Formats: sequence, C-alpha cells, structure tokens
Amino acid sequence: MKPLVAAVGAVLCLLAAALLAQPSALPYTVVTREGRRPLAARTFNGQEMFALEDLARLFNLTVREDTAAGGLTIGAGGQTILLSTQQPLASIQGRMTSLPAAPARDGRTWFVPVDFVSRVLAPVSPTKIDLRKPSRLVLVGDIRMPRVAARVESLGAQSRVTLDVAPPTPHTVAQDNGRLVIRFEADALDAADLRANTTTDLVQNVRAGDTPQTVFVDLGPRVASFRATDQPGPAGATRIQIDLVPQTDAPAPPTAPGPPQPQPQPDAPPLLDIPPAGGLRTIVIDPGHGGDDAGAKGAQGTLEKTVTLAIARRLKASIESRLGTRVLLTRDADQTVGLDQRASLANNNKADLFISLHANASVRPAVAGAEVFYLGLEGYGEAAQRAAQAPRDALPVLGGGTRDIEIIPWELAQARYIEQSAAFAQAVEGALRERVPMSTRALQQSPFRVLVGANMPAVLVELGFLTNTHQEQQLLADDHQNALVQAIVEAIVRYRGGAGGTR
Ligand SMILES: [Zn+2]
Repeated sequence: MKPLVAAVGAVLCLLAAALLAQPSALPYTVVTREGRRPLAARTFNGQEMFALEDLARLFNLTVREDTAAGGLTIGAGGQTILLSTQQPLASIQGRMTSLPAAPARDGRTWFVPVDFVSRVLAPVSPTKIDLRKPSRLVLVGDIRMPRVAARVESLGAQSRVTLDVAPPTPHTVAQDNGRLVIRFEADALDAADLRANTTTDLVQNVRAGDTPQTVFVDLGPRVASFRATDQPGPAGATRIQIDLVPQTDAPAPPTAPGPPQPQPQPDAPPLLDIPPAGGLRTIVIDPGHGGDDAGAKGAQGTLEKTVTLAIARRLKASIESRLGTRVLLTRDADQTVGLDQRASLANNNKADLFISLHANASVRPAVAGAEVFYLGLEGYGEAAQRAAQAPRDALPVLGGGTRDIEIIPWELAQARYIEQSAAFAQAVEGALRERVPMSTRALQQSPFRVLVGANMPAVLVELGFLTNTHQEQQLLADDHQNALVQAIVEAIVRYRGGAGGTR
C-alpha cells in the first residue's frame, strides 16, 4: 500500500470534525516526506484507537464489512486482511496476528487499536510505517527521525551529558558561545525524551535546537572544555557521551575522565581478520516483537516476545561456541525495536545472515508446527522485481563502491538476495523437519517488512503455534528449545558448505 497524500485535505476536515464532535485522546502526528498532519485517536475501555476510515484514507485501504461473518475485509495493496469484529485478531493472507483489543464501534464508524498500524499494516506495507507510541508519531516512508533521549549527571567536578540515539545517526558536536550544538543528519528528531532529568552548574539545559535536526546543550559560565565520544548504546543505539570540564583556579581535581571508548560496535567480540570457512563472519538473530508489542499469546498466557528472546539467546550461545561466528541480537531485553531498525542493525554490522524468530497464532487450536519464510516480492513494485533478476553488479547503488560502503535503496536490499535466502530457508526447513513437527505449509514466501531492508540472505522462522496448547508447552521446554536451536545451527552449517557460503 502507498500513503495517499492527495487525500490529506479530506483527512484533515474529517479529523477536525471528529475532534470537535467527541472527547478524544491527544492526536498522533503522521510524518511523511511531504509534511506533518494530525491523526485523531480515541480511547475505548482504556485502549487508544484510530478510526478505520482515517487509516483507510491515509493508507489507501479498502474496507468492507461482512456482518454475517462478524468481520471486516481490508484490502491493502495486493494483500487481504481479515479483521474480526468479535475478537482481538487479524489475519493477513491467512497468517494470524493478535491485537490488544477487538475493534470498537461508534455509530457506523469502526475503530481499531493503534497497534493495528504496527502489527497489521506495517508488516505488509511496501512503504515503511513506524508507529512510535511514546512519542505519538506515525512515520510513513523513508523518514530519518532518530529518537534522542538525554541524561545529565555530575561526576566530581565534571558533568556528563549522555544522548542515546536510535537508530545510530551521523552527527557533529560543536561549541557555539554558551552552548553545544549537536547536529544530526536526519529529517527531524524524535525528542519526546530529550528533557534532561537534572541540571548541574555546568549544564543548565538540554533542549531542541533552532532547527528540527539539532539539540542544544546550554552551558554554565564555568565550562572550560568538552570532550564528545560515541559508544554503543542499548538496543543498537549510539550513545553520545559529552564530558564537560570546569575552569579551575587550583590544579585540576583528580577526577577520572571516564573510561576509554574505542569500540564502535555494539556487543561485538573482536573480529578475526580471517573470516571463518564459508565466509560467515557475523550472524544477526532477531527475537521477534518485544516491549509493548507482545506478539502472539498462548492459550495459557505465554507471550511470543518471551519465547523468541529465550530461543534467540540459546541460538546465539550455540552458534558462537560451535561455529565461532560472531552473533548479534537485535534486542537482548524486553524492549520495543522497530522493524526497520532490526534490519538496520544487521546492515550496519555487515551481517552475512539474518534470522528473525517468531511464534505463530491461529484461531484453530489444532494448527501446529514450524514454518520458514523468505521474502516474497509481490507488492514491492517493479524495481524490486528487476533487482531480483539483474546481475548483482548491475544493480542501482547510490554512492557506488564496494559492499562495505554502498548504499542501496531500502526497498531493493533484500531483493538481491532472494535466491540465497531461498536456499537458506530450504536448509532451515530441512533441518527443522528432522527434529520438530512442521506445519503443513512448512516453507513459504511472504512480504514481511522485517526482511525487506536486510542487505544479506534473510529468513523468518515461525517456531511453532502458541495457540496450540501442546505446542505452547513444547516452546517453553528446554529439550524442544534445544531441538529448534540445533536444527538452525545445523542449517547454517549446511548452507555455509553449499552455494550460499561464498559471497
Ligand atoms: Zn511474530
């Protein structure tokens, strides 16, 4: 689906009417390349919701109500979404996704939980959609809008300003009279967490700057100098650490100037100069969901985000010890990470494989078994189809150069690796089949958003169905988790030994 910018006027009129007519939650802001506009939200039983007709205008959806079946049929690009009006469930081309609440109705208008945007629309959209609930933002398209969170602390006579920037974004730090100016290469900043927790005599304020891309740190009169360093931050963020040193009449106090910060990569054990056999240096494992996105929920309450993280940690340990390959996780805690941020982490670390882990849900409790997906290009347009067919070096590359520095349009990144992804997906499916029950549709292609931007072979594994009571137990059990991990490690070994091993 594509954002329908032409309909903005209509949306604005409608939003204005909605805001006047009924009590509502604070609106969200939709940010596109063309600008910003409000998107009304309403609260039903403690759940924030968007009017489905507003989303339909914004994202060019078709909506048809099937009263007899108790559902809404939503067309989004080439995809069909079935949304239950009774239960908090949506089905995307047959795949079930859970929502925090069932749709609500007011008169003729249907409302859906705001998470509908991130859980149902974003995964099928060829256009990036990034819902940021804490900041009340919906980013549509290729918007560079890093989150910036600030913290100020005293370290003896010195003060330290810490800015966590996610995703990592190029920036400069410069002094301009009584302030520091941190300028980011971005369209704007998501600065909901910018307000500093405290002030010191050296740091009087941290605030948004005079352009959408800058942050100001207002300095006290006694600041003599500053030192800024970049370090790995939490969840793939960059941490900018700025130490401020006061003027001294006496000799400088013996305050530690902070630890040395040479390493630019998150969680990275040192790289060997010679890649291991088969050329797999780095593997990124992506535990699906996290934070306020719990994913699917089992009959006995098991959450997908918990299962995926537990298995991802086991898989990381097993690959590292058995293959000696560096493994990075897109999250190593219960935290929210955007879909595109997950692929970005893999791209930024030049990973050779990307494995996204999920657990499935179905309205039919009997459905069980693992499934392996790689990217299908339907809905991603001609450029992606062409990219998939063109010889590797004939592809459009912005900036040119080798793999290490090339910049590839996001939508085309995975298209170039479809064949290798298919080979790896087959290896995973084969290895899983030897150890765990498989679904009747064990190997499939699907347009998953999380795979689109990955600039390396990438697969998504649905480890099993949480809505099947027996399988929910299995997914929590050590021996079953180990069987899944062993199968995936085995698949990596087979893939590495085959055609996919050379790049
Ligand atoms: Zn999932």
